[in-house]
Amino acid sequence: MRVLGIETSCDETGLAVVEEGQLIAQELATQGAMHSVFGGVVPELASREHLRVLDPLWQSLLQRTGLAPEDFDVVAVARGPGLLGSLLVGLGFAKGLALATGARLIGVNHLLGHLLAPGLERELCFPSLGVLVSGGHSQLYALNSPTEATMLGSTLDDAAGEAFDKLAKLLNLPYPGGKHIDELGALGVPDPELLPIPYVDNRNLDFSFSGLKTAAAQHIQRHPDLRLPAMPDVDEVTEIGRQRPELSRLCASFNHAVARALCIKAKRALERGPQARQLIVAGGVAANSAVRREMASLAQEMGVELVLPSLSLCTDNAAMVAYTGALFAEAGLGHDLDLEAVPRGRQLPWDYCRFPNAEAS
Ligand code: ATP
Ligand code: MG
Ligand code: FE
Repeated sequence: MRVLGIETSCDETGLAVVEEGQLIAQELATQGAMHSVFGGVVPELASREHLRVLDPLWQSLLQRTGLAPEDFDVVAVARGPGLLGSLLVGLGFAKGLALATGARLIGVNHLLGHLLAPGLERELCFPSLGVLVSGGHSQLYALNSPTEATMLGSTLDDAAGEAFDKLAKLLNLPYPGGKHIDELGALGVPDPELLPIPYVDNRNLDFSFSGLKTAAAQHIQRHPDLRLPAMPDVDEVTEIGRQRPELSRLCASFNHAVARALCIKAKRALERGPQARQLIVAGGVAANSAVRREMASLAQEMGVELVLPSLSLCTDNAAMVAYTGALFAEAGLGHDLDLEAVPRGRQLPWDYCRFPNAEAS
């Protein structure tokens, strides 16, 4: 089975080909630099950019692989959550292709795509605990199979990635700032007195990162020299960290606080749930070195196998969409052409991941 994956949910335009569970080729265009000037994604610009680059990427993919549009059995597209205008660009493209070629259309939950992405690199076993930490979400899932996920907990306010990006903005670091905070933090030692481990003094499986962000903002207010006078280029950040130990210390403390909060709740979920065979950590924040390190020691402590996607599979990409689409197609699921986009922030039914409107075919 040959699957085309399409990802346009936020500010990455991606296309990928997955064949018999293997990634054959992919194209990825990121709009990071375009939105960096605004300190965040501008939705209108994002959808226009998807529209502009999608066809050139498609032509390049066909040329590189020697495939023709009718060579795909399945067209899988990220249907949400994401920015509505951006999602509609991908959905329109997917529907047009499915209509023209007769390929099966599958709308993929972008978040489930993040969680299943490491399946491209190793075998996933179920039941497992999924920790999804991305730019818009921070959630725990009980994954019973690739097509069955139940959400156990979620952030009450900011997502972990959003908190990283907001801290980066306060420090005048380029957008998206998570990887720069990671980079700077790696040069310093966390100070547990500096920032609190947020929202762990309770019995639930939810997260809250806005308090941590506020604590960091207050620290910066008290030490205004921490804010960089001019936004550096991305390749200047490490050198700046070497010259500013106080900045590295703040970033290390932030990395540590986020990683600890995630691990404390993940441990709680592992203790409460049915015996998980794997601990899957996914989404952009799964690229964070403190998160990876802390999750590795948690997995060891709990005797569960840790699954971390390689760095390029953590942030948005179309390979994860194609791979997830392949699993749904194998399970006999698919969508009609009336498939709708599900924007970010809309209340999702609890079983959104199970594609309640999918039709067996
Ligand atoms: P969602 O998947 O929730 O819709 P998104 O697609 O925008 O949101 P992702 O692409 O999964 O999110 O991840 C992007 C986020 O990951 C950004 O907030 C970015 O700062 C963060 N991020 C990327 N690398 C790192 C890192 N090394 N450390 C911390 N955060 C990181
Ligand atoms: Mg992005
Ligand atoms: Fe994402």
